[in-house]
Amino acid sequence: MDIIIYRGTKEIGGTLIEVCTTSTRILIDAGYPLFLNNEPIADDVAKKPYSELLALNVLPDIKGLYAWDQKDFDAVIISHAHIDHYGLLKYIHPSIPVYLSPGTETLIRISQAFQICEKFELDFRRFTMYEPFQIREFSVTPYLMDHSAYDAAAFEITAEGKTVLYSGDFRGHGRKAICLNRFIERAKKDANILLTEGSTLGRAEERILTETEIEETVIKRMEGLNVPLLFQCSSQNIDRLVSFYRAALRLKRKMVVDVYTANVLYELRKLGNNLPYPSSDYPNIKVFFPYRLTQKIFNEIGEDYAKQFSAYHISRRQLKETQDRVVMLCRPSMHKDLEKSNLKNGVFMYSLWTGYRSSDYQQRFEKYLENSGFSLEVLHTSGHATISDIQRVIQGLNSQKIIPIHTLHPTHFLSLSDRTDVKTDGVKFRV
Ligand SMILES: [Zn+2]
Ligand SMILES: [Zn+2]
Repeated sequence: MDIIIYRGTKEIGGTLIEVCTTSTRILIDAGYPLFLNNEPIADDVAKKPYSELLALNVLPDIKGLYAWDQKDFDAVIISHAHIDHYGLLKYIHPSIPVYLSPGTETLIRISQAFQICEKFELDFRRFTMYEPFQIREFSVTPYLMDHSAYDAAAFEITAEGKTVLYSGDFRGHGRKAICLNRFIERAKKDANILLTEGSTLGRAEERILTETEIEETVIKRMEGLNVPLLFQCSSQNIDRLVSFYRAALRLKRKMVVDVYTANVLYELRKLGNNLPYPSSDYPNIKVFFPYRLTQKIFNEIGEDYAKQFSAYHISRRQLKETQDRVVMLCRPSMHKDLEKSNLKNGVFMYSLWTGYRSSDYQQRFEKYLENSGFSLEVLHTSGHATISDIQRVIQGLNSQKIIPIHTLHPTHFLSLSDRTDVKTDGVKFRV
């Protein structure tokens, strides 16, 4: 068995890894990069024609993978629904099957429906966590992982008597922390290779909050206060939405989500789980219809995406009148809607990676909130493993070789394990 890491040996995001034998080739993740020439990638790059993306190495030169080539891959497997792991799918040859979890497929499809990512039709095939599936010579077992993306997977990949483990992105302080223990318990011990992420290596060591602590912090901050609570997080960060939802329940406040987030919760709930979603079973969830988004739904996306939540609708006027009793998800595109609802003198909690905070768009939004008397605060926790959780994985699995991936500081792994083997992008190696 051979492996080529096309991207990820020395950077975070844009992961692409080929695992192959003489007869079978599979690609693990098809990630769009977060960086180009060591700088955060500019928004307009994604719109360039594929020939330019190949020249820029946004699309690595991989024969037999892309739509314009002669097909020479047997499968692509996707670990989770973050762009830095699936953002290149639209370039993949349409006759290559793409294996992914039900949650990952749902999130990708909803991003397409809401025009957050481009539409493409691929041969999606759903796998079930913990159940091995076969791709010609390869047996692949997915493991559910604790990560900020819903239904994220790690993979155990076996062929020719060799085993490779790929952690995907993971953490051990989210709402599914138990999944990390399960992965360590159940995945193969002494595997030939462990490819593990190390996003947090090199960051200043800080105490990482658990999702439960996020919930508790919200309660402690808001208890006894009669002012609006606005928060900003990703609508697809389900763990975080649940943390704020649980806090809202305990504070006896209404949880207000916009109609896009309502759709995310509704679609995921259909997969069979206990996620809260706007319905008669969850009377404290209300759905807000931001003007621009609602126009877009009616004109371009499909009115059913809006109409199915009309029974749980909260109007601008109701929002204005009950603002002291809400926990509301917001984002900069809702600036005008909030202004018209005349929300005042509350608390705003920024619950995303602070690196996104400096954009002009975000800054204008926060300035408006500040001018409306909001106290601007940060309450966030990483989607990625702490060093001690990475250590736990390394020690518990006892793999023969540790290959760092999805990290800016691969050499920091040398201090975690003397089995560390730092690789180079694009160079094939034997397992
Ligand atoms: Zn990632
Ligand atoms: Zn991720």
